Amino acid sequence: MAILFEDDSTERVLSPGKAVEDVNIDNALRPRQLTDYLGQEKVKRLLGVYIDAARLRNEPLDHCLLYGPPGLGKTTLAGIIAAEMGVSIRVTSGPAIEKGKDLATLLSKLGENDILFIDEIHRLNPAVEEVLYPAMEDYAFDIIMGKGMGAESLRIQLPKFTLIGATTRAGLLTSPLRDRFGVMLRLEMYTPEELARIVSRSAGILQIRIEPDGAFEIARRSRGTPRIANRLLRRVRDFAQVRASGVITREVADAALSALEVDSLGLDNIDRLMLTSIIKNYGGGPVGLETIAATIGEDASTIEDVYEPYLMQLGFLSRTPRGRCVTPGACRHLGLKADDGDGIQTTLS
Ligand code: ADP
Repeated sequence: MAILFEDDSTERVLSPGKAVEDVNIDNALRPRQLTDYLGQEKVKRLLGVYIDAARLRNEPLDHCLLYGPPGLGKTTLAGIIAAEMGVSIRVTSGPAIEKGKDLATLLSKLGENDILFIDEIHRLNPAVEEVLYPAMEDYAFDIIMGKGMGAESLRIQLPKFTLIGATTRAGLLTSPLRDRFGVMLRLEMYTPEELARIVSRSAGILQIRIEPDGAFEIARRSRGTPRIANRLLRRVRDFAQVRASGVITREVADAALSALEVDSLGLDNIDRLMLTSIIKNYGGGPVGLETIAATIGEDASTIEDVYEPYLMQLGFLSRTPRGRCVTPGACRHLGLKADDGDGIQTTLS
């Protein structure tokens, strides 16, 4: 069954991006308080201190930048911060704010200490960023009245607020914008144990019967990403109801995920195609990102944002100044040798 994604990009069951089918479910499964937000212990510890301190001083939290691959819980965390601070949150995204005026309208609707959450903040256009700077620094924005010599600037004061920006690419933020964040927190991929707890919690909410081994099997094939774990849980449930007794055991999870072509470590055909073509066509690397993209017919930025973080986390791929290299561990997993090249473009089915 094809999976539709919000940005029409890809149809992988393992994509960490938000699929259309995820939208309602994401909300239903989204933890609302810090105690339900599993994993990310370091981030939670730091945030706990910052939140307590801000509340003690009755001030807004410092502007925060949350960064890390998609599906790790940035939006969820922003909502939890608002709940913990006892303030309202407005949610928008970089591409949705077209003009400086749109941002000014959003800002003027905020109450004292409220939170403005901007997802994909690296995609803000420069004119909007200009409006954001004085807003972040002085809680104000400037309106220019009139034109030419007679133009006057009028400063409008805003309530104190917190900007929470989320991005998958902190490196793409302009430095003036990056410098205005007092807090920068990097979300890490989750361990299988943490994901198993997330799967069990989600199964409880969705009233799915699951054994601990079944939850762990889904967890270790979910690429360190809660959004993928929750999606695989729903797919495995279908399988358990139609082909098994309705309970997700380890065997049921294994059979369902194998049918979806998700292997024991959470790799799918595209990961395998990418690694195999580096081995077969380029002797295991180093090979440039653009070359890999052209060889497998994927976008270079998708490879960088979506495929590589997990392959690097597994230790299957390394980035060197001369290009990407496949590691011996990846060769072992695929049952190939680094010099298995045949000089012919290989396309795996
Ligand atoms: P991002 O904004 O980083 O793309 P989201 O915050 O939308 O990711 O998270 C995707 C889904 O994953 C959420 O709906 C939520 O159900 C789940 N999720 C994310 N992080 C956690 C967590 N730490 N604990 C439990 N569930 C989580």
